[in-house]
Amino acid sequence: MWLKIEPKEPLILGDVRAGSQFLSTIGYIPGRVLRGAWAEWLLIQGQQDILSVVEKVRIGNFFPVAEWREVCYALPLPMSALTCKRKNGFRLELHPDNQGHGVVDTLIPHLAYYLLEKAGAEFPAPFALTCARCDDRMEPMGGFYAVYRDGLTERYVQTRLRYHAQTKVALSRHRRAAVEQMLYTASALSPRATRPDAKEQTASLVFLGRVHGKAEDINALKDALNHVAIGALHTRGYGRVEVEEATVEGFPNVKERVKQFSDTLARCWDDLKRLAVNAKVLPNAPVGIYFSVDLLASGVFRRQGLPSLIPTLHINGQELKPVWWMTRPDLASGWSTAWGLPKPTHLAACMGSTYVFRWEGDLEALVPALERLEAQGIGERCDEGFGECLICHPFHQEVEEK
Ligand SMILES: [Zn+2]
Repeated sequence: MWLKIEPKEPLILGDVRAGSQFLSTIGYIPGRVLRGAWAEWLLIQGQQDILSVVEKVRIGNFFPVAEWREVCYALPLPMSALTCKRKNGFRLELHPDNQGHGVVDTLIPHLAYYLLEKAGAEFPAPFALTCARCDDRMEPMGGFYAVYRDGLTERYVQTRLRYHAQTKVALSRHRRAAVEQMLYTASALSPRATRPDAKEQTASLVFLGRVHGKAEDINALKDALNHVAIGALHTRGYGRVEVEEATVEGFPNVKERVKQFSDTLARCWDDLKRLAVNAKVLPNAPVGIYFSVDLLASGVFRRQGLPSLIPTLHINGQELKPVWWMTRPDLASGWSTAWGLPKPTHLAACMGSTYVFRWEGDLEALVPALERLEAQGIGERCDEGFGECLICHPFHQEVEEK
């Protein structure tokens, strides 16, 4: 189920370092922040066994989007998304100042090139992508984007967040009173975001994300979040939100995404095969079903007992290792709001990491297993929101500049 969270006050999200004079925020709502707020609400209510309640719902990360037209979905860009170094950004942005030379996803072309080489293809040139407009180099494009339905046009828009800084008097945790001559600056996410079609005007900022669980438990979560503020400084005018169920129109299901991924791979394979000097002896299509697992949250993985950046999947009794991937290290830390204690820190693969796997069975057997992965997450500490994933991120379809 998709939920929509609308902040009513500025938000300060993420890990707050003790003793720092600056409080800053990240641009999305981690699932664990919502879980912490739920636990806090239960604590206020005098609930005894908090963990057994909050365990019932898997809460994903919530991604920012300016409320405008019909929002199809809002997601982080996968690590394989590239844009022109000279003029970055989407081509179809509404405001002329925001229009770039386009953003393209390189995962499927890269994968096709790699698989063809493994099948014995000899290419006259190494794999390289340049900007289709100006031929300049491409660089990774991170951050969040949203797809809107604007009449008959699908609009791809980079999410532009606004921040506002405030200097406040520090409060002592022990005495719960102002600390003399101690000031700190809080830089918070504004509840207003830049409107996609105007540079100066703003629209409501909302966050879209997924939760998995029984309807009654999700209702309990919604009720808690409508009562208790989230993030840091939430007793001082920050973090109040409203939550409701969201309809995310036009988001393809797992089966459709896997099919689209396969079709695009077959098309790229065919295109690239023609470039090979020995095209005649190469297979016509890739063998097996390829699919990607894209991290929407950091992932904590282990291989033979050691921390790893690469997950292993277990699907219908088969152990699958990725055939191709892009990842970067991150640290999985955390802070328990309800208990006021730091959680252990692990090596993690960062949000946006993408892994491609190959499946030799049929699609019908694969799809329910992949749906379970999306619902449960992959790797360790999934109950804290790590390992949230999306099968075949829709942006991998964008093999031509958007
Ligand atoms: Zn360019």
